[in-house]
Amino acid sequence: MIDIPAKDSWEALMHDVITCRRCPRLVAWREEVARVKRRAFRDAEYWGKPVPGFGDLHARLVIVGLAPGAHGSNRTGRMFTGDSSGDTLYAALHRAGFASQPTATARDDGLALRDTFITAVGRCVPPGNKPTPEELANCRPFLARELALLRQTRVVLVLGRIAFDGILVLLREQGIDVPALPFAHGAVHPLPAPGLMLVASYHPSRQNTQTGRLTMAMFDAVFQEILTSFQGEYNGTHPGCCPQEEP
Ligand code: SF4
Repeated sequence: MIDIPAKDSWEALMHDVITCRRCPRLVAWREEVARVKRRAFRDAEYWGKPVPGFGDLHARLVIVGLAPGAHGSNRTGRMFTGDSSGDTLYAALHRAGFASQPTATARDDGLALRDTFITAVGRCVPPGNKPTPEELANCRPFLARELALLRQTRVVLVLGRIAFDGILVLLREQGIDVPALPFAHGAVHPLPAPGLMLVASYHPSRQNTQTGRLTMAMFDAVFQEILTSFQGEYNGTHPGCCPQEEP
C-alpha cells in the first residue's frame, strides 16, 4: 500500500516531484541529456529535472503516459511538450475539445487543458525510453498522490502497455481488486471503483505513428469514446476548467 500524506496538496506534491533524486541512474541521465543537449536545441536551457503533471485540477479525464522524452519534456519541463509524441497528442486533444490549442512547445505557450490532466508513470527521462521496474515503483507514489488529489476522475486513459501495467499495479496497491486485463488499443475497462473507467491506447510515439500502428483516426476514436462516456455532462467548457500551466 502506498502511503499518501493525510493533508496532501498540489504545492507539496509539485515540490516533492521536482526535487526528487530517488533513482540514481535516472538522475544522472536526465542531467547528462540536459548538459549535452541535442544540436537543434543547443541554445536552450534544458529543464533536466522530474516533470510534474499538468492540466485541469478538476479533470474527469486523466491521461497517463510513460516518461519524459529526452529532448521533449526533459527539455521543456511540461508533459508531452516539445516533441513528436506531444505534437500527436495535443493535436488530437484539440480536435476533441480537450486542449485550447493543437501545439505544445514550451511551458509558457498559453496552452490550457479542459477537463483533462496529463501525467506519467515515470517523471524522469529513462535511457532508451525504458525505466526499470524498480524505478517505476519508486515513482508510483507520485501518481498515487495525483490520483488522490484529482477527485473528479471518471476516465483514466493510459498510453502504451507500460503505463497500462503501471496503473493496474497502482490500483492493486491501493486495495482495488482489478482482474488481469489484456492491453489492447481502444479497450475500455470499467473499474471496480464506482463510475471509473480505464481506457487504453497505443502510445503516440513517432515510431507508432510513422509505422501506422497508431493512425490519427485510431487516436481520434479513443477520444470520441471518452467524449461519448461524458455525454450529458461534457460541453467542452467544464466549470472546473482553468487555464493553468502547472499544479
Ligand atoms: S523517476 Fe520518479 S522516483 Fe525516480 S528520480 Fe525521477 S521523480 Fe524520483
